[in-house]
Amino acid sequence: MKIQKRLYLVLAVFLVFFLGGCSLETNSTDATNPSNAMKVHYIDTGESDSILIESEGHYMLIDAGDVDDKDTIVNYLKEHKVEKLDYFILTHPHADHIGAASEVVNTFSIGKIIMSPKTNNTKVFETLLDTIAKKNLKITKPVVGDSYTIGNAKFTIFAPNSMDYGSNLNNYSIGLRLVNGDNSFLFIGDSETEAIADILASRQTLDSDVLLCGHHGSKTSTTADLLKAVTPTYAVISVGDNSYGHPSDSTLSLLKKNNIKTYRTDENGTIIATSTGSKITFSAKATDLSNANTSDSNKDDATSNKSNVVYITDSGNKYHKSECSYLKNTKTKTTVEKAKNAGYEPCKICKPAS
Ligand SMILES: [Zn+2]
Ligand SMILES: [Zn+2]
Repeated sequence: MKIQKRLYLVLAVFLVFFLGGCSLETNSTDATNPSNAMKVHYIDTGESDSILIESEGHYMLIDAGDVDDKDTIVNYLKEHKVEKLDYFILTHPHADHIGAASEVVNTFSIGKIIMSPKTNNTKVFETLLDTIAKKNLKITKPVVGDSYTIGNAKFTIFAPNSMDYGSNLNNYSIGLRLVNGDNSFLFIGDSETEAIADILASRQTLDSDVLLCGHHGSKTSTTADLLKAVTPTYAVISVGDNSYGHPSDSTLSLLKKNNIKTYRTDENGTIIATSTGSKITFSAKATDLSNANTSDSNKDDATSNKSNVVYITDSGNKYHKSECSYLKNTKTKTTVEKAKNAGYEPCKICKPAS
């Protein structure tokens, strides 16, 4: 009996080792192994966009937050051991998407920089062009239908579809669909009604598991028609303190009506979606949409007042308009109400709203 028991024990130990070794081996070649997974980091940069994508040690960044997000973005990328970005996509030339782009170009090695063909005449945009030229980088124009590979994943450009949107830079946003196995992620920058109509009319594949709501959750971006074409299971809203009414109540109620699990950077901070190729998991808890008003609200983007946005500096005691010459590089975006509550007074030179 004793010998038999010992034999069983030896056999058991042997079996554990054998099976353990076996399962380790199968895991390392399994495409759904979490270590081979693609990660999409919706970095919390407040009222702006910056998304880091990693697959198989390859990285790509979509947009670079606002001017005051330089440290946040550069540090986040360094923490995640990024040295090279295979792709750097700048959806459109608004400051809340290209704000820290010069820092990113100066800090990391860049494979391809893909930028909206629409230009802007702001200081931050011109500085970016100078930085790109100094680094001898060539700008790649987005061509609808073009596909690129990033590690295990692939992305396809589907917008902009026109250069006739007048002065609304949002509509010139690059749109792209990122695919990892059976999982898909959609990015539309700040595209609004006109651009979205063209995207839908172009009949490209939009169906995706995760939608980054365009334009920080404005109702002009997340429309009922767009949701019908994308049919997302999950939505992410990259949003922070703002005076535009983002995210719009009508966006939230549409997401609720369509049973879409929604994540918000202003509630969750940075949100990481992990895609195994067959399954997507989120690092954060979905937002509670039960309070979303399903009737149309009057607090929408059109009625909110853009002139409420003002800027303060680290050292001054006045608040300013964005173009004021008294503003230094360290300007921080805020609202008139917040600035006044914090004891700031309106600048006498640029005379912001009071
Ligand atoms: Zn914009
Ligand atoms: Zn924006």
